[in-house]
Amino acid sequence: MTTLRNLPSVEQLLKTETAAHLIARFGRPLTLDALRQTLDEIRARFKSGMLAGLPSIDLILAQAESTLSTWTKPTLHPVINATGVILHTNLGRAPLSAAAIHAMDAVSRGYSNLEFDLESGKRGSRLIHAEALLQKLTGAEAAVVVNNNASAVLLTLSALANRRRVVIARSQLVEIGGGFRVPDVMKQSGAKLVEVGTTNKVRLSDYESALEEPIALVMRAHRSNFKIVGFTEEPELKDVVNAAHQVGVPVVDDLGSGALYDTAKYGFSHEPTVQESLQAGVDVILFSGDKLLGGPQAGIIIGKKTLLDKIRKHPLARAVRADKSCLAGLSATLTHYLKDEAEREIPILKMMSLTLKQVRGRAEAWRDELGQGDVAEGQSTVGGGSLPGESIPTFLLELSVKSAQKFLRALRENNPPIIARTENDKVLLDPRTVLPEQEGALLVGLKNLLKRKPNEIRP
Ligand SMILES: *Cc1c(COP(=O)(O)O)cnc(C)c1O
Repeated sequence: MTTLRNLPSVEQLLKTETAAHLIARFGRPLTLDALRQTLDEIRARFKSGMLAGLPSIDLILAQAESTLSTWTKPTLHPVINATGVILHTNLGRAPLSAAAIHAMDAVSRGYSNLEFDLESGKRGSRLIHAEALLQKLTGAEAAVVVNNNASAVLLTLSALANRRRVVIARSQLVEIGGGFRVPDVMKQSGAKLVEVGTTNKVRLSDYESALEEPIALVMRAHRSNFKIVGFTEEPELKDVVNAAHQVGVPVVDDLGSGALYDTAKYGFSHEPTVQESLQAGVDVILFSGDKLLGGPQAGIIIGKKTLLDKIRKHPLARAVRADKSCLAGLSATLTHYLKDEAEREIPILKMMSLTLKQVRGRAEAWRDELGQGDVAEGQSTVGGGSLPGESIPTFLLELSVKSAQKFLRALRENNPPIIARTENDKVLLDPRTVLPEQEGALLVGLKNLLKRKPNEIRP
């Protein structure tokens, strides 16, 4: 009769060649842990009558190996974005240029002059690294880079408006996504909100009456992910700035996306640019590094030196500071703009400026390579809290499959995962957001799946 006494011990398992391989791959402590856990599981299942007999040594080791793989597999890894959403927040927003990746790699591998002044040999400031580039590019007096734009908003308001009143239009008290609500962040900073106007309308006179009371600053927040249409009104930014400046109150503009280029040239409607805010006389402008700028995650604060000095010195600045790889990658990205090579080097700008002929050519090449599917007209979007409801024409590869949902799931289980979308029970793949170097892996994954019989694709 089989009893648990026939189960091999950890020591016995360790004597096998397979265990030696596992130790080489995963290290001794983790391998021991996995072997013990596997034996415990077998004992428990045997006692509860779920096992008729005991598994072989090979089977036990195979189970331990699978446990070890699960424990050590990264949860964060590259995917192929075939959705046509260029700044997909869930897929990590902007892919970086080769120069940005190189710069991040170089400062991460070893030491750097992050906070070291090479000229004097003394302590320096990490904030100088992207500052000169931002000044040169935008013409702003000063710049500070922090962890992301949400922290830029929090830090700016904490430094300039703590326990004081901030005027903002009701129509701008928005939720950006992922639970980021402008009013909540404003309150978190200790600022007191003075809401003006109604949901759809705000007039200059609303701002003017609010400014009759003592006010720390006027804030504008870009409605990044939705549009107000119909019976609406909002004064020109420069008129709001003039009204505020007349009573000595500064204006902060949370631009969100922070385009340096006019997106209208790619066939989208116009997204407010950093330069326009500066021209309107805004004192402090906040925007993300990884939205339309096309760089790493960062929050960029530019504007008047006196105000930025207060922001720089606030204790929260230390808590939300940017790390060295961010500063290196951001500087490399900004340099592309300075050298007028952004459209050639920055992946999201390349994607936006692909011609219809180029996208169609890629979709047709995919169809020919796969020997199936149709090339059809479709739409790509920007996403990532930029250009709400806006799309540009593209060409898609449409695949007719038995179950689009099952097929999408199988695509997600591919290595690397392929993220596509479905419409009218067809699977749609947009070449615009697939990086050229990922095309090979995409086609291999698709071919393997299309070869499988429909019932082999797990529900
Ligand atoms: C996206 C966005 C933010 C948040 O920026 P993150 O860089 O994601 O932290 C804040 N404000 C506006 C208007 C935005 O569009």
